[in-house]
Amino acid sequence: MNHDEFRRHAHQLVDWIADYQTNVENYPVKSISQPGEILATLPASAPVNSEAFADIFADFENKIMPGITHWQHPAFFAYYPANTSHASILAETLMSALGLQCMSWQTSPAAAELEERVMQWLAELLGLPKHFAGVIQDSASSGALCSIVSARERATNFGSNLNGLYHQKPFTLYCSSEAHSSIEKAAKIAGLGSANLRKIPVDENYAMRVDALQEAIEKDIAAGLTPLWVVAALGTTGSTAFDPLRAIGEIAKKYDLWLHVDAAYAGAAFLLPEFRYLADGMEYVDSFVFNPHKWLLTNFDCSTYFVRDKNALIDSFAILPEYLKTREDSQVNNYRDWGPTLGRRFRALKLWFVLRTYGQENLRKFIQSHIKLAHDLTAKMRATSDFEIMAPVTLNNICFRYHPHNINDQEILNQLNFKLMEELNASGKLYLTHTKLNGNLVLRMVIGQTNVSEKHTEIAWALIQHMARSTPG
Ligand SMILES: *Cc1c(COP(=O)(O)O)cnc(C)c1O
Repeated sequence: MNHDEFRRHAHQLVDWIADYQTNVENYPVKSISQPGEILATLPASAPVNSEAFADIFADFENKIMPGITHWQHPAFFAYYPANTSHASILAETLMSALGLQCMSWQTSPAAAELEERVMQWLAELLGLPKHFAGVIQDSASSGALCSIVSARERATNFGSNLNGLYHQKPFTLYCSSEAHSSIEKAAKIAGLGSANLRKIPVDENYAMRVDALQEAIEKDIAAGLTPLWVVAALGTTGSTAFDPLRAIGEIAKKYDLWLHVDAAYAGAAFLLPEFRYLADGMEYVDSFVFNPHKWLLTNFDCSTYFVRDKNALIDSFAILPEYLKTREDSQVNNYRDWGPTLGRRFRALKLWFVLRTYGQENLRKFIQSHIKLAHDLTAKMRATSDFEIMAPVTLNNICFRYHPHNINDQEILNQLNFKLMEELNASGKLYLTHTKLNGNLVLRMVIGQTNVSEKHTEIAWALIQHMARSTPG
């Protein structure tokens, strides 16, 4: 492909993308592809000779598109959203064309300095303490890992990086029973052992019980173990529950634990001062993760990790011994030392495009509008006699179930709601997913897609009622 051909194809693609965005609502939200169906259409070996772009693109449309689940469909209510926006797509395109590796300052000074600046912007937007330094990573999972490794290194005076943990009595870690699976994964990868992660029970709002946290810590200390790290989830994945940060912070301080905050999804709500009460106690926090790639209009991946003591992070991950550092290194950020990977994408660019294209006010309106849609729909569900709201709707995740009067058996209700979800998703009109809260299967409807509006929530709600009530109980 030469430059002229590239120019032609790129123009075609832009038109295709704009058409896709215009027509995305005509696709079934969740792909109806069966296991192995796409695979069977793909040749067993890579082509020996060059193929024309037109042929590749035709296969993309005919073979790949049918197996795509449309995350950018406004009726995508599943999981948590993975927002895109025009600004972010444009920046991603530039990032891809520049093809940078942003490992050190000198591999692209603008990338390092833009990252430093947009992370300051974001910290201010979220109302985070001034002493936080930030770095952009691929995911909140990596953020959890960085946090645990930093805590481990700080507690061993950076000795476990050197000697391993062979002579260390077990450290213990704490999260709520509703914490994200990435916490347990990070505990395993960091070599601390999932058996040493205590899953603290939650209260009726699915928030961590602080009395149970304190008890677990005391028990571990009495057993000769060393409590190391605790995570407060601000917005759990299941029901967007908020752990009580201040109370957890006081305990973290008392027992000298590293306190991590997982606000991967709900962090976006801290743009709104009226929701910052949920993050009260931030002065106790050692590290904080929030994903603009979920609910802040920035293409995956863009996860922001903030840390109180950046040296605990850098000294845990630095790949150069002190004596090899240059004079320049003391004046600049070499972000390769701020996380697990050496190579890094120029993610700051898309965050910069997004923050500038929208501006603070529009970003706040965007978040506010979704919260309002969710609260309006919650009120409608509450007003019926056969739908139940199953968890507090603080932001925009509605956990609900269909509960007709004549059924009270938990197992039967669970089956009924699972079946309802599968039928709804098979309709292609919307996509939602489930979780279990207290043994009850609940449907999660997260209203956070970039282009979702009242029209979409109304159509979805009508369909949910219709399908639920016409399903034989
Ligand atoms: C989505 C989510 C994660 C995981 O995010 P990744 O960036 O995909 O690793 C972690 N914690 C919470 C609370 C989440 O909602």
